[in-house]
Amino acid sequence: MRTYKFRIYPSDSQITILNSTLELCRELYNSMLQQKIYAYRWGKKVNYNSQQNEIPEIKNTFPEYRNIHSLVIQDVARRLDRGFHNFYRRMKEKRNGKNIKAGFPRFKSKGRYSSITYTQSGFRILDNGHVWLSKLGEVRMFMHRSVTGDIRTVSIKRDSVGGWFITLTVETGSNPDKSEEAETLQDSQFQPVKPAGIDMGLKSIITASDGSHMEPPQFLRKSEKKLTRAQRNLSRKRKGSGKGTKARMRVQKVHRKIERQRDDYAHRLSRNLVENHDLITFEDLNIRGMIRNHHLAKSIEDASWNRIIQYTMYKAESAGTVVILVNSRNTSRICSKCGNIKHDLKLSDRIYHCNICGLTMDRDLNAAINIRNMGLIKIGRGTPEVTPVEIGALPMATLVVEAGSPLRYSRSKFTSRVPI
Ligand SMILES: [Zn+2]
Repeated sequence: MRTYKFRIYPSDSQITILNSTLELCRELYNSMLQQKIYAYRWGKKVNYNSQQNEIPEIKNTFPEYRNIHSLVIQDVARRLDRGFHNFYRRMKEKRNGKNIKAGFPRFKSKGRYSSITYTQSGFRILDNGHVWLSKLGEVRMFMHRSVTGDIRTVSIKRDSVGGWFITLTVETGSNPDKSEEAETLQDSQFQPVKPAGIDMGLKSIITASDGSHMEPPQFLRKSEKKLTRAQRNLSRKRKGSGKGTKARMRVQKVHRKIERQRDDYAHRLSRNLVENHDLITFEDLNIRGMIRNHHLAKSIEDASWNRIIQYTMYKAESAGTVVILVNSRNTSRICSKCGNIKHDLKLSDRIYHCNICGLTMDRDLNAAINIRNMGLIKIGRGTPEVTPVEIGALPMATLVVEAGSPLRYSRSKFTSRVPI
C-alpha cells in the first residue's frame, strides 16, 4: 500500500456540499457514539454491524443523508468502531503497566470532523488529471505525481485553514522483503558499479560514501525558523481569543508548508540517489532506534529519514537500483580503511582519525563508506579477507579486488571533499 496526497480545488458549491457532508457525518458519528454508550449502560452491546444495518433506516428518517455516498456513511461507523478497538487495546496495555491514557472515543465538536473516506467505489481519476467523486462531480486536482496501481480508498480532508486535500491509498502489489532480496542477490549476477552508502547524521544532514553532503535546502531551514517564531508568538496569546486563533492558524499554515517542503526534498534527494547509483545502502533505522534512543529530536528526524528511505525504495524498483538496509552498529567507530574500531570516538569529534593506519577523514563520510561496504557484504560482493568479529566492515583494497570488476565509483555528480 502506498499513499498519495494531492491538493484539490473544489468549487464554491462543491465546498458547500463537502462542508455539509462533514457536518452530517459528524452528527452521525456522535449519535452512534451516544448509542454505544447508552447500550453499554443497559448492559447491551452495539457493534459495527448492527450500526451499519441501521443506515438505511437513518436515510429514511433523515433524507439529507441520501445525498451522501453510502460507503462514506459506512466509513463513519467504521471509524467509531476503530476508535473503540484502539481504546480496548490501550486499556489492555494500561493494565499491563504501560503509562498511557486509554482515551475513550470522544464526541466531535463542530468543525472537528474534517475528513470523509470513499472505500472501494464512488471515485474515479479522470483523463484530465482531475478526480470524479460521487455526489460531488468533477473536482479540480493538482496531481503533481503520477499514480500507479489500484486505488483502494480515497479520503477528502479539510485542513484547519480551509484548504482541501485528497489522499489516495493505492495497492502496489508485491512488496518484496528486503532481507530476502539481499539473499537472492547473493546468487545473482548483479555487479554494482556505483554503490553508495548513506549516513544519516544529526539535523537531517545526509552524507554519501562519495563524499557528498546533502543538507536540507535553505528554504526549509528558513521555514523551520519561521515555525519556531510562530509557535513562540502563539504561546503568548490567550487561548480562544481572536488573536490566539489567528496565531494558531499561522502556525498551522507554516506546518503545512514545511510538510510540503520536506516531502519535495525527499523526492528530489531520492531521485538523485537512484539516478546515480545501482546499489544504495541505508542504515536500518529500526535497529538504530534502540541504540540512540536518547536523542531529543529523534522522532522528527527519523520521520524525515524514513520518508527518504521509503521514496528511494520505490523509485529504485522501477529504475533497477537495489536498496538494502544494514545494522548501523559501530559504523561511526570503525575505520573504513583498516577495520580498526575506535572506542573512544566522541560525538563531538567531527574528524575521524585512525591511530593504526593513519586514516583521517570526515566522521560522517567514514561512516557512510562503512555502510556502503556493509551493503556490499550483505549481497555477497567483496568478501573481506579479515573481518573483525565485532563489525563486518572491510578494507577498501580488498573490496576492489573481490568485487570482480574494478569499482568504477562515479563521483562526477558530487563534489568530493575528501579523497577516498
Ligand atoms: Zn585505520
